[in-house]
Amino acid sequence: MEDETGEATLIQKAPHAGAVFGAEVPAGLGGLGGSDAGPLTELHVFWLAGMSCDGCSIAVTGATAPSVEELLAGTIPGLPRVVLHHPVLSIDAGHGFVKPFRQAVEGTLGGPYVVVLEGSVPDDQSFLEEGFFSGLGVGADWPASLEAPRAPDQPLRMTDWLRAMAPAAAASIAIGTCATWGGVPAAAGNVTGSMSLMDFLGKDYRSALGVPVINVPGCSPVGDNFTETVAAILLFLQGLGPLPEFDELGRPAWLFGETVHRHCVRAGYYEEGVFAKEYGDKECLVDVGCWGPIVQCNITERGAINHMGGCMVAGGACIGCTMPGFPDKYAPFYKAPPGSLISGRTARTTGAAIRRLRRISMGAGNREFIWDKTGEVPSGWSAERSEPSTVWKWSGFFYKKLQYSGSVDQAKRNTETPLPRSRNVL
Ligand code: SF4
Repeated sequence: MEDETGEATLIQKAPHAGAVFGAEVPAGLGGLGGSDAGPLTELHVFWLAGMSCDGCSIAVTGATAPSVEELLAGTIPGLPRVVLHHPVLSIDAGHGFVKPFRQAVEGTLGGPYVVVLEGSVPDDQSFLEEGFFSGLGVGADWPASLEAPRAPDQPLRMTDWLRAMAPAAAASIAIGTCATWGGVPAAAGNVTGSMSLMDFLGKDYRSALGVPVINVPGCSPVGDNFTETVAAILLFLQGLGPLPEFDELGRPAWLFGETVHRHCVRAGYYEEGVFAKEYGDKECLVDVGCWGPIVQCNITERGAINHMGGCMVAGGACIGCTMPGFPDKYAPFYKAPPGSLISGRTARTTGAAIRRLRRISMGAGNREFIWDKTGEVPSGWSAERSEPSTVWKWSGFFYKKLQYSGSVDQAKRNTETPLPRSRNVL
């Protein structure tokens, strides 16, 4: 989108909150947003790790649509090649690894960059003297033009880099629930005083392109949710894709707009009021602690890796790991959520009746017309099968009346069709 001066403008609307943000695309960002410099050919991604278990990195390396390899190789048509600076995956080490971070802070990198944070942000910027919880490089790596936050031989805090790099980044993306909402390191009693990236940067934070913090939650997140979000943003910036939608908390709306429950493979059991009593049962897991009905996550439709697996598919109850306030707000784990007392009881009552009616319809539906006419099922598997009861026959009669009302009564037509003459050929 361009304003009257020809400058590209990024506008985003949070669909639920109705909030609108917009900003001029600064010159010198290598063509981001369609400036005169043309489309991007390369984008630096600086991966910072705070209070993290590295699970998000592992999840992202398993992404397939698109994969990290495709992003790094620049093989996706229209997308720039991603230059990843990752504390575990990069080949460079020591000062060589930290050098591009310093160049980004100095403004000498020569291209745009994105900051990705994995893990929560410890409260170590509040330390007046020594101490840190998560470090990257040493004081000697810090730009000489800036006031040194540490002596040359002392570790720099991850938060030093985050504070310096986020304002000039094209976008700041929090990956995983620790970075998006604080997560496990922000649980009650944790000595690090950890917080989310949003909490650290504050409400007024906007990237160089005017974008607030983008949040891709999950513990660990679905890797594809992250790579797809990155790809969607890049496609838009290249002028090749639609404007991605984010919700009022900066989550990709197309990925986190639905609850786990709505797409759960066990949702049919819930509707029929049939619930698992212990782990390993195949039914709905709400009685053994599933929070799926109120948790926003797409793992039930997307799977964990390569569209396979995922919590409920693998037998695990949803413990709310994508949600703000996790884990404390969803504790104790494996105890039925209080809200399920009402919804579960309602489902039990209505579901029991619906289930029985469906059994009747299934019984009638599991028969060929020939079997109905001859009164026998030529199946060696069904020797014990009883004939349809009078209740089944009458309910089937009225069911078909409703089914074919206003249409051709196929049931009647089949009744009038002669039996095949070579039936029972042996
Ligand atoms: Fe809903 Fe959880 Fe039951 Fe799935 S297992 S149907 S998400 S309550």
